[in-house]
Formats: sequence, C-alpha cells, structure tokens
Amino acid sequence: MSTELNVDPQEIAKFEALASRWWDRGSEFKPLHEINPLRANYIDEHSPVAGKRLVDVGCGGGILAEAMAQRGATVTGIDMGEAPLAVARLHQLESGVEVDYQQSTAEQLAAKEGASFDIVCCLEMLEHVPDPGAVIAACAALAKPGGAVYFSTINRNPKAFAFAIVGAEHILQLLPAGTHEYAKFIKPSELAAWMRDAGLVLEGMTGLTYNPLSKRYRLKESDVSVNYMVRAVKPS
Ligand code: SAH
Repeated sequence: MSTELNVDPQEIAKFEALASRWWDRGSEFKPLHEINPLRANYIDEHSPVAGKRLVDVGCGGGILAEAMAQRGATVTGIDMGEAPLAVARLHQLESGVEVDYQQSTAEQLAAKEGASFDIVCCLEMLEHVPDPGAVIAACAALAKPGGAVYFSTINRNPKAFAFAIVGAEHILQLLPAGTHEYAKFIKPSELAAWMRDAGLVLEGMTGLTYNPLSKRYRLKESDVSVNYMVRAVKPS
C-alpha cells in the first residue's frame, strides 16, 4: 500500500469545523439525522445486524454507528477527523451506546483487521475522498467472505447538481455552501465498476429522495438520480 494517505485535508477540515453541532438535529447535520432511520432500517433489513461485527467507515460523530450498536451490533467507527471522533466519544457517554471509535482510514484498518467484519458501511463519505476506488477496495478487504458492504453517495448529473448543491446548499440551506463538490459526485455505473474491481457483487440499489414540500426523505428504489445507497456481498 502507498504510504500517502487517501485523505483530502480540506474535506476533513470542513467536518472538523462543524463537529460540535453533530448531534444537534437542527444543525447542518439535520439531513443525516433525518435519513438515519431509513438507512439503518435498510441495512438491518438486508443484513440483520444484531450480534454481528460492523465497521462504519467515515463515521463522523457516530449517527449511524450508534444506531447500529443500539440494534445489537458490535460496532467499530473509524474517521480521520479528530473533532468528529471526540464528539462521537462524548456522545456515547451520554447515550450509553458502546462503539469502538478509532482514528483511521479504511485502508489502514484493512491492513490491520482484514476480513473481520460481517457488515461494512461507508455512507456519505466516498464523495469526500481523493480516490474512492481505493476506499471501496479497502471496504471489500474489511469484510469477511460472505459479508455485506453498504455505500451511499450522490449521483452526478444535472438534476443532482440542482438538488444536492443549488437546492440543498443555496436555496433550502440544509447544508453549508461548499459541503459538496459536483465533480466528486459518483454515478452508479462508476460505483458499480469500482465494486466489481474490488470483487464485490452488487445486490441492490435504492434512491434516497427528499420532498421539499413535505420536508421528508424516503427510500425510493426507482429513483437513484440524486442520493442513493447500494448493497453488495463479498463472495465466500
Ligand atoms: N458516515 C457518516 C458521516 C458522513 S460525513 C454519516 O453518514 O452519518 C463524512 C465523514 O467522512 C466526515 O466525518 C469526514 O471526517 C470523514 N472522512 C472524509 N475523508 C475520510 C477518509 N479518507 N478516511 C476516513 N474518514 C474520512
């Protein structure tokens, strides 16, 4: 493995700056709080997490990691941001939900603990790294044979630009301007190719849509045009 980390320091800095508000449901993290039950249910439905070893790659303040631990998984949460990890560790004292948080990249953890997780989650993170394909390969390496791997990201097309950047950052101001960079968005075909290269078998895909009138998110299989989530297995 190259000694150069697959990390964009500017991206880490963005999340460090906001970290203190990670668990404030009215903050910049409101969208993550609102989609959390949907994605947690999706994962738990396809890969029942109770009693399983799960790693959350790019866990931030631990919104998904805690939800998975609450459902009975033994959870490791990794992130390269110190402030999000500090917030995550403080929050678990408050919530009493146990998660093992470590400052690590997916690649570093894969070198130490390859093939040791039943479930690997890497949500809303690939669009913030220099080389998403390498993170996907590391996630595949982290999974046990027969394990499940989940990714979510944002599609790249004019509608995604309009909704995820113009709409979410500028009109509705759900997220700070500059949170996302259009060029880093990932088409499902690109994600699928990286997953194939990593030896993962794509099992399903679902969109995560936002209705600005009802202000509600929902999973919609037929619409992966903006936010979407995929699930794969690592063959035994
Ligand atoms: N997955 C979480 C947080 C998404 S925000 C959720 O969906 O709730 C993206 C997170 O990825 C931030 O916490 C950021 O610090 C982290 N991150 C960005 N690049 C990373 C890298 N190369 N390795 C590990 N974490 C990274």
